[in-house]
Amino acid sequence: MIKVVKFGGSSLASAEQFKKVAAIIKAEPERRYVVPSAPGKRSKTDTKVTDMLYSCYDLAARGEDITTYFGEIETRYNSIIAELGLDLSLESEFNTIKNAFIHKAGRDYAASRGEYLNGIILAKYLGFDFIDAAEVIFFNENSQFDSERTNAVLSAELKKHEYAVIPGFYGSMPNDTIKTFSRGGSDITGSIVARAVNCDLYENWTDVDGFLMTDPRIVDDPRVISEITYKELRELSYMGAGVLHEDAIFPVRFAGIPINIRNTNNPEAHGTLILPTSEKYDTGNVITGVVGKKGFSVITIEKDMMNAEVGFGRRVLEVLENNEICFEHLPSGIDNMSIIINTHELEGRRDRLINGICRAVNPETIDIDEGIALIAVVGRAMVKAKGTAARVFKAISGAGINIRMIDQGSSEISIIVGVDEADFEEALRAIYQEFVY
Ligand code: ASP
Repeated sequence: MIKVVKFGGSSLASAEQFKKVAAIIKAEPERRYVVPSAPGKRSKTDTKVTDMLYSCYDLAARGEDITTYFGEIETRYNSIIAELGLDLSLESEFNTIKNAFIHKAGRDYAASRGEYLNGIILAKYLGFDFIDAAEVIFFNENSQFDSERTNAVLSAELKKHEYAVIPGFYGSMPNDTIKTFSRGGSDITGSIVARAVNCDLYENWTDVDGFLMTDPRIVDDPRVISEITYKELRELSYMGAGVLHEDAIFPVRFAGIPINIRNTNNPEAHGTLILPTSEKYDTGNVITGVVGKKGFSVITIEKDMMNAEVGFGRRVLEVLENNEICFEHLPSGIDNMSIIINTHELEGRRDRLINGICRAVNPETIDIDEGIALIAVVGRAMVKAKGTAARVFKAISGAGINIRMIDQGSSEISIIVGVDEADFEEALRAIYQEFVY
């Protein structure tokens, strides 16, 4: 049994947190490959080391003196080393990095040093081997992650190490420069390592008990989801349930490896288990989660006999394509068709879009309604449970809220409803209460 464990920035923000992390790793010998983030915030007002590195590099790029600011970054690492009582000096690493900043080694290089240095400290503290991600994680000429090359090199390398630390967030380009994933990308590295060793479980340790059923800023103390499928997670993350980097799902999903979200500050909690499929349903809840987002617009096009006009939909979508606009949903009726898009997509393109659609399909009316919020009610149990849609609508109408749009995805694991932005929070609360209380 092999487990790959990834620890987020808040789990490694101080020596005290390092101690918790080491206790977790040492509790199970199966926890063999460790992926750390850079030190995160120690308190709400603190700054993440990654952000300090970006700012420091920007100073250097402007030709300003970075001695003081870089010194603050050194202090963060040195205090962790001192408090852990480690016999380790990063002086030569600091000098190399500072020099590279002055010689403009690139923003990605700068940011990646957060994970790199933290990885060296963690490996030393655990007594594990250190593997520089630049040697085993690769991007291609187009800056795209090169999964096949990485998997081949990484799995061969990991076979040589029984226990190792591989820093998250970065890899190297064909010309040997450093490239990072997008922010929060250590989750992706963890997933890549999990696939490379074909582990039994990828544990992603963070500072929450798992995925919550809904947004805690809107509903008080929502329940933690105990099990969720990859598919459901896709639907929830798309609407902003952001505990895990979206791209972290892909490497492990195809290998069928489950992910367990755990809390470093509450290791007793089981967290959320993300599985390829699941037949287990949390007792009583038909839904797995309900999330939503503001900032959408609905374009409604009406034309009698639209359904009989061959190529109508294609011509409308071609106008969107020509204006480089993506759409989110496309509910349609017999004589009308609605297109849901992100409102920001309309900026500067509104008139061109309307004129284009008029020319393409000559509709009777075309309306754009801004200020729509979408709510996704997600649950694999919905396929089996009768009347779920009716309960969603009853909850919303019971709160005196008008539904502006409905779309049930063909996969039957989600129902999407659109409401006015002003009604968003109330509608979300009403749906949660209908299913959870
Ligand atoms: N340290 C990087 C960030 O702050 C990557 C990560 O933590 O996953 O985005």
